[in-house]
Amino acid sequence: MNHAALVETLRPLPRVGRVRIAAQIDRLRRICDDTQPLETFLEEVLDVLRRVFGAAAASVWFRTSEASTLQPASRIGFDSLAFSAAELASLDEAVLALCDASEPLAECFEELPAAMLVGPIHGPRDSTRPSESPEMSETARTSETPGAVGAFQLVITDIQPSWGDDWDQHSSIYLPALRSVLVALQPEMLRRMRVSHLSISEAHQGLERLGQQIHGIQRSIRLAIEHHLQQHAGATFGSFDENLQFLRSIHQLLDAHGLRVRCPECGHPAILRCARNASVRAGVFMFDHYLPSGRTFHGGGAVLPTLRVVAKPERRKSTPGG
Ligand SMILES: [Zn+2]
Repeated sequence: MNHAALVETLRPLPRVGRVRIAAQIDRLRRICDDTQPLETFLEEVLDVLRRVFGAAAASVWFRTSEASTLQPASRIGFDSLAFSAAELASLDEAVLALCDASEPLAECFEELPAAMLVGPIHGPRDSTRPSESPEMSETARTSETPGAVGAFQLVITDIQPSWGDDWDQHSSIYLPALRSVLVALQPEMLRRMRVSHLSISEAHQGLERLGQQIHGIQRSIRLAIEHHLQQHAGATFGSFDENLQFLRSIHQLLDAHGLRVRCPECGHPAILRCARNASVRAGVFMFDHYLPSGRTFHGGGAVLPTLRVVAKPERRKSTPGG
């Protein structure tokens, strides 16, 4: 959100009471940065818009999947309007009449002491369109527009009788202000709509994709360690203690990643150990593993064998007494 530019666009708005534009835009930015759900977000945004535009009432409308027309999703201030039910209904009708436009529209009612701003909210397809060229005809724009997914409605009652004659001049202040606010809010709204519509199966698919990524990373780690260890095939470090020390380091590295070496004799995951031996001073290399028959050692060569790295087996079931 370009804070300074937004404040500049909103400054010419008729000032109502002690509302400070910069403070309200600061608040709007904090609202956008927050992680509240869509419903709370809209309520908070409506409150800011109402103050900034000096509106007596404000609402946001959305097209739900069940309904073909927009429905009010959140409304504030309508209870305090001194309008009859029929007059309130005419405000609603005006929203539905104006909301499919590609740009915000303003209307000053002849039969009501009120003016209304309607700012259509468009789906992601619109926001990815290249910036609208002014020479593009209105029909060309609307034919590309799949209809608004929602709309903001602001009802301004603090108007002078002369405004009706001079409405173009007033709307030329209101409309750019509303447009710039919508540009700032639209991505925030769409993001929250996506999150609120995320189904459990989509969340599950996301986790599955993450699992596949992690699996790929783990495979690269396993192969990197294996590749490194294979460079030491045929080595011995001269003394029993040095061999022991090296094998401990290998085991720590493998264990940290849930890995073991594969016993070349039986293929089971094993821990490589160095065992004292009467005829080999630096000890012999043994594969230590639990087979169905119990703890078993395979191997026994005097040099480090070519190692294959495999996943650590499931934890053994504890047996009574063991
Ligand atoms: Zn074995």
